[in-house]
Amino acid sequence: MRVDVLGVSFDNLTLDEAVDKAVRLLEEDRPHMMATANPEMIQKAAKDPQFAKVLHDADLVIPDGIGVIYAARILGRPLKSRVPGVDFAAKLMDYMAANGKRLYLLGAKPGVAEDAAKSLQAQHPGLLICGTHDGYFQEDAPVIAAIREAKADVVFVCLGFPRQEKWAAAHGAETGARLLIGLGGSLDVFAGRVQRAPEIMQKLGLEWLFRLYQEPSRIGRMARLPLILFQAAGARIQGK
Ligand code: UDP
Repeated sequence: MRVDVLGVSFDNLTLDEAVDKAVRLLEEDRPHMMATANPEMIQKAAKDPQFAKVLHDADLVIPDGIGVIYAARILGRPLKSRVPGVDFAAKLMDYMAANGKRLYLLGAKPGVAEDAAKSLQAQHPGLLICGTHDGYFQEDAPVIAAIREAKADVVFVCLGFPRQEKWAAAHGAETGARLLIGLGGSLDVFAGRVQRAPEIMQKLGLEWLFRLYQEPSRIGRMARLPLILFQAAGARIQGK
């Protein structure tokens, strides 16, 4: 069952349940698309109907951001838990390593995906990374062909939203992969270019504050985020 949070519907699953669902999608012989959606993406979807449709049609949408959890609570439709994209990806890679599934890393600046691949293979022994490509390409066709030739089962599409979700929806089938996952800046984290918040801050729901401390230029983007809590309160009052 999906829970609507200001126009984006989320799967109401714990981290383990979300990984189980992804594994089921991976076993089905057709392409699937998955999104890790945060409050900024909800705000974008409200203004971009094409992006909203891509999220609506996605096979799995997980709440990656404490703001989504708060908004859902204010709406009176609480979600079970936050499912950070990086944690989700880590569990899925354990499954992939144990089951011989092939992972392709697409996105980030040149060199980052290669560094991410090395560190992920060290963290998940046996993980089969079948290819990498940076996210600053102009032509789609060669990238699609590279993923197809690599026989990828899963692609982490890390081009920033909404491009990554639109790209996965438009080209997923052509790549031959079973599961394409929009994962934002995760390759920068896996490659060690960006640090994740200390665990205590993650537990307290303060990952956003740590991110702001690391990248102060995000202040403009982030200043709009509390707005979704007001929007959620407004929608609740209007009985939506
Ligand atoms: N990126 C990319 N191609 C582009 C623009 C961005 O590959 O044309 C990458 C960028 O290098 C970064 C990721 O997409 O690794 C987006 O990171 P950000 O932290 O902005 O994403 P969020 O997690 O907020 O969606």
